[in-house]
This record gives sequence, structure tokens and C-alpha cells, in this order.
Amino acid sequence: MKNVTKKIAIIGAMEEEVSGLQAIMTDQKELTTHFRDLPIFTGKLAGVEVVVARCGIGKVNAAMATQFLINQFSLTALINSGVAGGVSPLVKIGQLVIGTHSLQHDMDVNNFGYPQGTIPRLETSVFPADSQLVNLALQKAETVLGAENVHQGLIASGDQFVSALEQKQKILKAFPTALCVEMEGAAIAHVAWLNQVPHVIIRAISDQADNTAPADFDAYLLEIIPALNQVITNLVHSVPQSAT
Ligand code: SAH
Repeated sequence: MKNVTKKIAIIGAMEEEVSGLQAIMTDQKELTTHFRDLPIFTGKLAGVEVVVARCGIGKVNAAMATQFLINQFSLTALINSGVAGGVSPLVKIGQLVIGTHSLQHDMDVNNFGYPQGTIPRLETSVFPADSQLVNLALQKAETVLGAENVHQGLIASGDQFVSALEQKQKILKAFPTALCVEMEGAAIAHVAWLNQVPHVIIRAISDQADNTAPADFDAYLLEIIPALNQVITNLVHSVPQSAT
């Protein structure tokens, strides 16, 4: 049966992306589900009812977790929090990207004449984030990191860890305005869009999606997450709870 208390859902792919939020949640309870590997916790963050899920890496895990949370809870907003590789030369390690839109860069039906990233027979392949959530996230991010360290724009998701210059350049050629790449955001956005639930993707840059990305990812992952968590916490605190 659907839980009727309105909540904000926060989805992170990896343990490192959710553990800091869990650490400051109050009234925390783990939800019992039949899933093999999908830890979900309810509680309060900054005094606001939230549900935090660690969905696992990649688009399938992300999509499945999103649909489950939407079915299970009455969500006012869905936030995807995590790390990403910067692809725009303007986007540096440690900075934040707020997604105004997202798409799936690895969707490839080119041989039927569709441009890269097109999901055939769907009204759109570019999923807009909720503009109110984007604006609130921008305000909070700029307060925590300074405006010079915050970007807003297109996020490209795919089932690939982008860690080679030619791979990154191929993505930028197809999507010149992409700011960063990651592996879950657009799947969450796609499911949120289908269900008409407002969402926003907020990513801290762990690497620059180039040949040094694996080493940078390992070096910076834990360093960049606290600021991200601060932004998420401040955002959750300011989302109007009457919104649906
Ligand atoms: N080192 C991890 C695997 C990380 S996969 C392990 O061993 O388990 C990378 C994760 O961070 C994904 O969840 C993705 O969303 C994000 N990410 C960060 N940098 C990325 C990049 N350059 N390309 C794609 N995803 C990236």
C-alpha cells in the first residue's frame, strides 16, 4: 500500500553518495523490500520527510529504483545526487553541475536515421528538470561553493564510465552543450518524466572523463561529497512541501 506522507526522494548510485546524508538523518528506518540490492531508508533530513535510496550503478538500476520509490511513496520531488565526469572544458573537479536537462548519450538508433541519443517513438529524448528545483538548487549551490563553482545545463548519461579522450570527444561532438557525464541521471529523469514527478539532478565533478578519470575518481570522490551533501540538505529544507 502506498505510504501517504509526502516525501522528497534522494537517489544516489553508490554507498559513498548516500552515507553522508544517512549519517545526519533522524528517525531513520530501513524499508523492508524483496529487492536483492536496493537499500532504502526513510527519515528526516533537515526536519523534512525524505526517503534515501542507494540504487546501484547504471541506468537500469536507477530506473528501477525510481519507479519503485514513485509507486511506494507520495513524492513531492525527486533528487538525484552523485558524482560525474566533466566534459565541458569549463567544468572542473570539485565544482557542481545542476542539470536543467538530461539525455541518454548511448541511445543509438542511428541506422534508422535518428540522431544519437534519440529514443524512438517517445515524445522527447531530453528530459527537463523542474525549474523551481533547479533554481533552488542553484541558489543553495552558489551559497555553499560560490557562483564561480556552479554550472547549470545539460547532463549526459550512459552505461559507460567515460575515461578516454576520444570517448569524451565523441559525446561532445553529438552533444556540444553537455556539461558532464554520469551513469544514472537521465534514467531517473526519464522515469520521473513518464510519471510526471518533478526532479533535479545535482552532480559534483569527480574527474574530467579523460584518461586520468579512474585515478581522479578515486582521489576526489570522498573529498567532493560533503559540499554536495550540504547543498542537498539545504535544498531539501527549502522545497515547498505543498508542491506535488
Ligand atoms: N569505482 C567504482 C565504479 C564507479 S562508476 C567501483 O569500483 O564500484 C562511476 C560512477 O560515478 C557512476 O555512478 C557515475 O554516475 C559516476 N561517474 C563519475 N565519473 C564518471 C565518468 N567519467 N563517466 C561516467 N560516469 C561517471
